[in-house]
Amino acid sequence: MGEKVKIAIIGGSGIYDPEIIEVLEEKEVYTPYGMPSDSIKIGVLSGKKIAFIPRHGRKHQLPPHKVNYRANIWALKELGVERIISVSAVGSLRTDYKPGDFVCTDQFIDMTKNRNYTFYDGPIVAHVSLADPFCSELRELCIRSGKELGIKIHERGTYVCIEGPRFSTRAESRLWKNFGADIIGMTLVPEVNLAREARMCFVNIAMITDYDVWAETPVTAHEVEKVMKENVQKVKDLLVKFVPQIPDVRSCKCGKYMDEAII
Ligand SMILES: [Zn+2]
Repeated sequence: MGEKVKIAIIGGSGIYDPEIIEVLEEKEVYTPYGMPSDSIKIGVLSGKKIAFIPRHGRKHQLPPHKVNYRANIWALKELGVERIISVSAVGSLRTDYKPGDFVCTDQFIDMTKNRNYTFYDGPIVAHVSLADPFCSELRELCIRSGKELGIKIHERGTYVCIEGPRFSTRAESRLWKNFGADIIGMTLVPEVNLAREARMCFVNIAMITDYDVWAETPVTAHEVEKVMKENVQKVKDLLVKFVPQIPDVRSCKCGKYMDEAII
């Protein structure tokens, strides 16, 4: 397998070990921003060469606000990756987006406070468009694969990304709900912005684990654990189906936004 690895999975909570990937090598990648969350495993998934990195590290030692997002994206770019499949656990802000459902996120609202959002800190300045933050080609394939497997996957969803590591207050949760967010998590930003700056495609598979605190009867930790276990199995099935369908040559706009972004 001499060819470059073009697809990567960034695994979220519950996805630390890529059991579905036949791992061929493991690389430590040094970047100008420091070390990524972990070494990067490179292997084969359903016949496609693929890279895998656990966002929080293999022991879940990195909380969302301490993940070195720039190092992670830079390292994947360095390996030749053009397309990122980001997997994350989220809370739901609507009754019809139920624990156990998946969402193929199509918009986000950034409520984080203190992260490194860009590779362009000067002297080169870039203002990249994120009107449509996710890859249309990957979204379509992902949604179709989910449906073929009988997974409940919502085609649209606005992800509000909070700083964490604490959860929202009830007042905050109501606020996110009222301004149109459907799901809530702590890791999408700045992963998605940085991928855009690196001219990469990005798709997010959000796995709903619970209802956020706006719900008057919060689910128990035991219920959350059970849902998470089921979600992990489902997302593995989804990746096995989805990844081999990704074409080698991109027909989306994701690689071109930066052409108009640099001042
Ligand atoms: Zn794309």
